[in-house]
Amino acid sequence: MRDKNCIFCKIANKEINSNLILETEDYLAFHDLNPQAPKHALLIPKKHFSSLNHADDIELLGKLMIGAKEVAEKLNIKEAYRLVINTGEGAGQTVFHIHIHILGGRPLEWPPG
Ligand code: 5GP
Ligand code: ZN
Repeated sequence: MRDKNCIFCKIANKEINSNLILETEDYLAFHDLNPQAPKHALLIPKKHFSSLNHADDIELLGKLMIGAKEVAEKLNIKEAYRLVINTGEGAGQTVFHIHIHILGGRPLEWPPG
């Protein structure tokens, strides 16, 4: 269920502080330590999956999508925001506990880098 060396499991367990935006029994959202936009949050399930490729809980994945739009609403970016799930080192994944980036507060270019 949890990986004792995983930084996001530690955040989920409140062993490491984070700047919380919202929390339910299934997930929590907090501000990214190194924001890439004026508004940059991370949404993580409390249950550990190392990436989207390892996440097989359909109900939980659905809840995360609903949670993501609630985070966008809380951050006042519901008119324009982007969700990103970096999957695999080659795509920029650095923390191997599935997370959704929620970015907004500036124009977001397309295609992304
Ligand atoms: P990834 O590169 O895996 O898609 O995203 C990991 C994100 O986690 C990065 O944007 C990084 O800034 C953020 N991050 C890493 N460690 C911490 C931490 O301890 N606290 C917070 N709030 N964000 C973190
Ligand atoms: Zn974890």
